[in-house]
Amino acid sequence: MKNIICYCVVIILFSLSACASQDENVFQNTIFHDVLPLSKNEFNSDKNVKNIILMIGDGMGIAQVHAGMTANKGQLNLQNCTHTGFIRTYPSNGFITDSAAGATAFASGVKTYNGAIGVDPEGNPVTSILELAKANGKRTGLVATCRITHATPAAFISHQPQRGMYEEIAADFMNTDIDVFIGGGRNNFSHRKDNINYLDTLLNNGYQLIFNSDSLRYISSGKLAALIHDEDQPRFSEGRGNMLVGATETALRLLNNHENGFFLMIEGSQIDWGGHANLTSYVVEEMLDFDRAIGKVLEFAANNEETLVIITADHETGGFAIINGDLETGMVEGSFSTEGHTPVMIPVFAYGPHAKKFTGIYENTAIFDKMKAAAGL
Ligand code: MG
Ligand code: ZN
Repeated sequence: MKNIICYCVVIILFSLSACASQDENVFQNTIFHDVLPLSKNEFNSDKNVKNIILMIGDGMGIAQVHAGMTANKGQLNLQNCTHTGFIRTYPSNGFITDSAAGATAFASGVKTYNGAIGVDPEGNPVTSILELAKANGKRTGLVATCRITHATPAAFISHQPQRGMYEEIAADFMNTDIDVFIGGGRNNFSHRKDNINYLDTLLNNGYQLIFNSDSLRYISSGKLAALIHDEDQPRFSEGRGNMLVGATETALRLLNNHENGFFLMIEGSQIDWGGHANLTSYVVEEMLDFDRAIGKVLEFAANNEETLVIITADHETGGFAIINGDLETGMVEGSFSTEGHTPVMIPVFAYGPHAKKFTGIYENTAIFDKMKAAAGL
């Protein structure tokens, strides 16, 4: 009898500890970052802004931001933004957007159907802010922590009826003389059904070509195509590491000091994937990684004084909620209500000249209109 009781106690204790260790919705942060105190002076908004940096945290709703803030003991670089607003994100054909329609709204100012890459509801190509910037003599860049042919970056340079057409999207990179792009998706350029090797085309078009993120720091000028993974990149804690911060610094280095300025889009792509996976640890790690890149961008903008920074998201993912946390230790516990996207309004954070134009509640398409107006494009 005594043995049976012991056996039961052991089983109960084992079950309890197994439960606790499998609770991936409790995240204990161990990688804390400092937040730079930045000038909150008013910038000169009387003239057109020279540079625009749009940062998209895919799937980043207010709870994702707040979870990152809690994990970093109550502070994020994001908080250095001086003006905030909200966007409504619905697509042309429904209640809840996907990343393709969401990115097309930012890129070109049109509401379109889910899955659309840079085309309107009838399938007609719509000019993107990146293409407008290029046409106006600015340098241009795209940085993402997924494949560079994925929906969010693709909508700024490609025009295709469906987001899954990765090879057609890769081919569209040859149609715009973009200066810098950094992400995964190398196979979409080199291992294709049509047997065209667009890596050769890129070399012929004057690009430096690199295949791993460690090489980014050696590139100091010129055009760059950094295709640092065959397909999508791994998550931050599974091998991607500080790729996003390095890519952000490299893009700023290559685009800066140009008389006509630049347009750069930087995506924290995998906040969304953490939401789809319903993993608090995944969401928060990716949020913190994105915020470290935000720190580099805001520091650049504070010193440059001619750069408008907009930080927002295409939609919220996971119906994420925070149910516990500790600002002293950086612990945060999350909960999810769906494995899909949700329709809630999304915050917009702005810094630099014309940042005040981003306050209020407006459509996601107005991000395009406001950027275009601020830069006089
Ligand atoms: Mg995305
Ligand atoms: Zn998603």
